Amino acid sequence: MSGSNIKSSSQPAVRFCARCVYPTSSAAPLALDAAGLCTGCRVAGQRETVDWARRETMFRRLLDEYRSVDGSNYDCIIPVSGGKDSYYQVHLVKAICGMNPLLVTYHGNNYSPAGMRNLVRMREVFAVDHIFFTPSIDVLKAMNRLGMVMMGDMNWHAHAGIFTYPIREAVQHRVPLMIWGEHGFMDLGGMHSYNDFVEFTYRFRHEHALRGYEWPDFLAAAAARGETLERRNLIPWVYPTDEEVEAVGVRGVYVSNYFRWDANDHGNLMVEKYGFEPTDEPFERTYRTMSNLDDMHENGIHDYMKFVKFGYGRATDHVCKDIRAGILSRAEGIELVQRMDPIKSRDLQRWLAYVGWTEARFDAEADRFRDPRVWAIRDNQWVKKDIDDVWRGYGPVHLTSTDRERFFHF
Ligand SMILES: [Zn+2]
Repeated sequence: MSGSNIKSSSQPAVRFCARCVYPTSSAAPLALDAAGLCTGCRVAGQRETVDWARRETMFRRLLDEYRSVDGSNYDCIIPVSGGKDSYYQVHLVKAICGMNPLLVTYHGNNYSPAGMRNLVRMREVFAVDHIFFTPSIDVLKAMNRLGMVMMGDMNWHAHAGIFTYPIREAVQHRVPLMIWGEHGFMDLGGMHSYNDFVEFTYRFRHEHALRGYEWPDFLAAAAARGETLERRNLIPWVYPTDEEVEAVGVRGVYVSNYFRWDANDHGNLMVEKYGFEPTDEPFERTYRTMSNLDDMHENGIHDYMKFVKFGYGRATDHVCKDIRAGILSRAEGIELVQRMDPIKSRDLQRWLAYVGWTEARFDAEADRFRDPRVWAIRDNQWVKKDIDDVWRGYGPVHLTSTDRERFFHF
């Protein structure tokens, strides 16, 4: 291990939002304004000014354009993981707006027990038709290994599957309207404004959700690394052609542009109304109990890789949302982030057994992705850079009164 190639002086220092706890090394596109506020906080604040009653009227009009008049086809497709957000989408679209949706699930084979029960329950509590799709397990294991080697993300197959398979179904069933939940990057980092009425695009899928990779990259990587993966194994991840999409007129809208999106509120509502179940066991890397139940590594070792890459994890994501929602103070948030973001979670052992790797192999691959803005090697160990400088406000906190002003009394 050598740290000689790490030149911290050439890297811009990581800064933090003055209100939430997002770093500028964020994986989601995010910028700080002159006041030190991040775009995520700015866009979250917009929710107070939106006329939600008017938005609901707009949404109902939009749905009316797509209803199957004679009942010969589904009115829309809702891609669902079976999470609380999926429940809320179907609640709004079916129970509130009276549409006849087809639910479509990409099943990546690693559901948590509670997540699986929630998924199966949907067709019962909502009285809807539901397609479950699972790729071959051998192919999924190869995709896990290759994703980790190529981009430090074993769950690329899931991000790609969720943003490919339902669109393939929309084309096949000739159902043009797709209804997504929230635009994740808009919610986290303020990538768009509520006035943009942003819709799903191939470009967003390719550049952000899929990190710029497509199935041919996996084919090439498999050939280079001795994995047996062929073109015919990758059908679920092949996006329909422009001609296919245009022939059906596929369009994906985000329900969060039309109904006020508050994950904590609607999570609780889904528990009360439809028996949605939180996780059986608390997560190690986040304090929330109703998120990401569709993959037992999503809040675990997959998220640990975000910490390895960028120096923060899902506790930061959740803390930022909860600070913006007024549920957590910044001081409470910093405490949670400091405690949870660095944890190398126990589900790593399950993942290693699943894909047939050793922990040493995992660590060696992981270290290749460390962001030099965040990490340096000292005494032959990877350590986060100067706590008193780059990570000010995050390290063991010994605050001056100025710091208190700066961090806790925004
Ligand atoms: Zn912020």
